[in-house]
Amino acid sequence: MDDPTEVLHRAFSHALDYLEALDSSPVAATSTLAELRHRLQIPLTAAPTPAATVIDDLVTATAGGQLGSAGGRFFAWVIGGALPSALAADWLAATWDVNAGLYACGPAAARHGLLAARGWDVEANGLAGSPPIRLLATEQHHGSINRALRILGIGTRALQPLATDENGRLRKATLDRALKESDSPTILVLDAGDLNIGAYDPFAELIPLAHEAGAWVHIDGAFGLWARASPRYRHLADGVERADSWATDAHKWLNTPQDNGIAIVRNREPHRAAMTISAHYLVAGGDARDALDWTPEWTRRARGYPIYAALRELGRDGLASLIERCCDHCMALTLGIGGLAGAELVAAPSLNQGLVRFLAPDGDHDRRTDATIAAINAEGTAYFSGTTFRGQRAMRISVVNWRTSEADVRRTIKAVERVLADGFRDGPN
Ligand SMILES: *Cc1c(COP(=O)(O)O)cnc(C)c1O
Repeated sequence: MDDPTEVLHRAFSHALDYLEALDSSPVAATSTLAELRHRLQIPLTAAPTPAATVIDDLVTATAGGQLGSAGGRFFAWVIGGALPSALAADWLAATWDVNAGLYACGPAAARHGLLAARGWDVEANGLAGSPPIRLLATEQHHGSINRALRILGIGTRALQPLATDENGRLRKATLDRALKESDSPTILVLDAGDLNIGAYDPFAELIPLAHEAGAWVHIDGAFGLWARASPRYRHLADGVERADSWATDAHKWLNTPQDNGIAIVRNREPHRAAMTISAHYLVAGGDARDALDWTPEWTRRARGYPIYAALRELGRDGLASLIERCCDHCMALTLGIGGLAGAELVAAPSLNQGLVRFLAPDGDHDRRTDATIAAINAEGTAYFSGTTFRGQRAMRISVVNWRTSEADVRRTIKAVERVLADGFRDGPN
């Protein structure tokens, strides 16, 4: 056997090379799917391969195949960014190879809690024959809600989308009407930072109303819940503490490596009942807590370490400043790009999400917007994603990475300006 530490040194030095090159490399992937498949098609052999060779080959084969989402000019979706300590803790978590945990999933607790209130034991009886659950969510709810409904056996037909106002917020009257329409057990999903414009529903008004109707209130705060740590933005989520469950992601604004989802529930019993292996619903005394009674997995990596590391590295002030910096950069990017010739501001950010679109002389702004996003991404300086907002295509500007700097903002605006000025081809002509 070769020296078992050699491969770790190699991986470490590949990791450092990657991080060092981030700032000067194209943000978009530069290898095509066909190239990657071809390079990765290394025949499996009967004979072993030295570990270091395996890692060197992996790095060579995947070169140009990663989006630079770890870097400062990646503004697509709300992903990317890992604080140094969080990345290091993630390496160590894999090294220690312990089986531990923290993550779970709120709607499963809601399903249990609501049906238990109607005398139905869903863990024992399943959903067949149970009172039908209804889920109310805003029109702009994240696709993960639909997936949760499918996985939990509730079904997507249970979802009733609710219209929001011009600020993307659910109005009290709209919710009141929906709650009165049916007396089915109801889950209400509210947004703390919606995916397009970072809108927060007015929790202090809506949650008591939903509770009066016996509904379970779940907050999708995937990135937006973190704004609660900033004195400048915490008021956006006022009243959020009244909800029954929150979901948030450490891999978003806390900048841990992927994937680090967190569920927080007000009342631990329904949650434990939905997750526990042992099916005795009383919490045992003592200090120890078995993660497998609280999470969907039996075996899981120690996702808690990177969260612990990131929170310690930042401190409360560091987290607040990370959030405020991202919001400032998002504002500068959105106004800077939105003010360029051929561009238009669609929604100025109230947080870290802004929207712009690109205008076509022939009036087909949707096609022009998608083509411009593709051209910007191909140019390589920065990377953005598209969305449909109020029936129109727009470019999303999401800023969640601790690395993003004012220099990145300036470089990105310049790059977009160049792409627009170059008059790229956006389709057959
Ligand atoms: C990212 C995101 C999700 C999905 O969360 P994951 O845990 O990353 O799968 C849900 N809702 C919103 C608003 C998001 O931004």
